[in-house]
Amino acid sequence: MKKELIFIGPPGSGKGTQTKMLSNEYKFPHIDTGSLLREEVKTGSKEGQLANSFMEKGQLVPIEVVSSIIKKRLMQPDCQTGFILDGYPRSTEQALALDNILNDIDKDINVKPQVFYFDISQEKLIDRLVNRRSCEKCGAIYNLKTMNLKDSLKCEKCGGNLIKRDDDTEEVALKRFETYFTQTAPLIDLYEKRGWLTKLDADLNIDTIYKNLKEAVK
Ligand code: AMP
Repeated sequence: MKKELIFIGPPGSGKGTQTKMLSNEYKFPHIDTGSLLREEVKTGSKEGQLANSFMEKGQLVPIEVVSSIIKKRLMQPDCQTGFILDGYPRSTEQALALDNILNDIDKDINVKPQVFYFDISQEKLIDRLVNRRSCEKCGAIYNLKTMNLKDSLKCEKCGGNLIKRDDDTEEVALKRFETYFTQTAPLIDLYEKRGWLTKLDADLNIDTIYKNLKEAVK
């Protein structure tokens, strides 16, 4: 049975780390709109430039840009048995767009998506974001405070450079939270009413969250 796993949580809630682990173990593609958009920005395309003007302010990129990127990605052959959607949808409008996309691509099969919500206390979040570094080669995520890196500038997995994202400053992080609470948080209710939602306690340590997550995947 095809697995459609959707992840919602504030920036810094740890869903990137968990979804990458799940993708490695279950072999479902990890589709992360933030990374897809950053790739588009790097190409210098018109869409990328437009996206960047929203990303650097911590605002949502217009739905036309994001939904078309997602639809193209979900139609790829590697998504036929399932996928992990990280960072989309982020608004009610995007959730309804996703309903249409899934109706289109799954018209011959019966699938019930599962939505995981990373429930985390607010105090931890800004600190996590400001200390976050990611590998520019493999995307592994580190926290400078909690990881014991021998060489803080290199990835332990592949040796790539660890970089700080442009939008991980305190000012943009605050704006991203505001965007999350006003536009994304209403999705928790929407999906709960549909009976699709599983809440995960994201204050726990990485291994415990992962164990709980795997137990919840049906
Ligand atoms: P992330 O890497 O998930 O924190 O996303 C970084 C930035 O990309 C966000 O602050 C938004 O500007 C943009 N972005 C990512 N996903 C979406 C989405 N589903 N809709 C609109 N903008 C998005």
